[in-house]
Amino acid sequence: MVNALIQLSAEKAANDGRRFKYETGATTAVFRFGSLARAAYCPRQYYYAERDGDDEPPPEARTRRDLAFRYPELREASDGELAAEPIERSPTGYRAALDGLAARDDWDELVAPSRREVLLAGRKCRGVAHKILAGDPPTPTFVSPGRPPERGVWRPQRVRAVAMAKALAWEQEREIPRALVEYPAHGVVRRVRLTTRNRAAYRETVRTLRELDGPPPRVDDEAKCAACDYREECGVRTRSLRSLLGL
Ligand code: SF4
Repeated sequence: MVNALIQLSAEKAANDGRRFKYETGATTAVFRFGSLARAAYCPRQYYYAERDGDDEPPPEARTRRDLAFRYPELREASDGELAAEPIERSPTGYRAALDGLAARDDWDELVAPSRREVLLAGRKCRGVAHKILAGDPPTPTFVSPGRPPERGVWRPQRVRAVAMAKALAWEQEREIPRALVEYPAHGVVRRVRLTTRNRAAYRETVRTLRELDGPPPRVDDEAKCAACDYREECGVRTRSLRSLLGL
């Protein structure tokens, strides 16, 4: 199946000019950061997306990501100006969140990163780091258009963060012990350290992709399926979000 996907991807890339999803054979495949994150969410969703060449974020995601490059301006913005932005907090709450970010040691680099939109090519994975903050060592960041969990970072984004750190480590031939995930619509920045747990999640995802041989089984997670664009094709019956939330 992986070989079939490689061929399918090559044909699609040749047809529409996109990059190859895989650069080599199954055992030495190089996976995109986005593919790893999707597979960490649900391997079956990854399978559908690869088949359909569905790897473009929606336009609204770009608008939200752009917020991460405008923190100082947004911190000074009026209530009316913030009301016109795709932020997920009240203007007062959002400015307070940015004030909190401004107290971070890496604030100067967060607002004026040394490198932006950097294509990283690692041994097993490649993709774009939205920022690379200068430092010893440097820190790659992923800018999420979504919302953060109560604490920490969602698992697919932890897998992506590890992938980014590993690719940067490969490029710079040094250890990169952490990455950041920014949630600019909420004014939140979270750290992902390359702990044993996070490395294991990354390795497990890479292994899952390498061993893919046909459509993977469905995940047993109704909340995930309710948010999945493939739920009808997948044949999953989900309750409405209201009922999931007990409303
Ligand atoms: S509906 Fe659920 S099981 Fe099916 S692809 Fe989506 S997340 Fe995976």
